[in-house]
Amino acid sequence: MDCIFCKIVEGTIPSRKVYEDDDIVAFHDIQPQAPVHLLVIPRKHFASLDAAAPEDAVLLGKMMLVAKQIAHEAGLTADGYRVATNIGANAGQIVFHIHLHVIGGEKLAGINA
Ligand code: 5GP
Ligand code: ZN
Repeated sequence: MDCIFCKIVEGTIPSRKVYEDDDIVAFHDIQPQAPVHLLVIPRKHFASLDAAAPEDAVLLGKMMLVAKQIAHEAGLTADGYRVATNIGANAGQIVFHIHLHVIGGEKLAGINA
């Protein structure tokens, strides 16, 4: 399968990793949209949250907690950062391997701005 993020998981495409375990990898976004812009992905490939199954519930929860952990390690606090996932082309999704964006380090525009 021709998936950039699967290649990052396999290590055939390099990335600046900040976290990995048996289920999850996190790394710096190649085109950061803010001073901190990290991505959290599962090693398991599925296209988006819309393709998630009930058995993915624990994995999705772990991804959210990893997002918080790496946010804190990057210096972000409960004062403000964003964890977001795009679903489908109309939402701006360009990589169809589910990922959480962890974005912060500046005052962010509101999600509806
Ligand atoms: P999406 O728009 O699908 O929600 O976000 C995909 C993100 O992946 C974008 O922010 C983009 O900059 C990032 N990205 C795309 N290709 C690569 C890559 O090869 N390496 C890294 N580190 N990030 C990538
Ligand atoms: Zn993939």
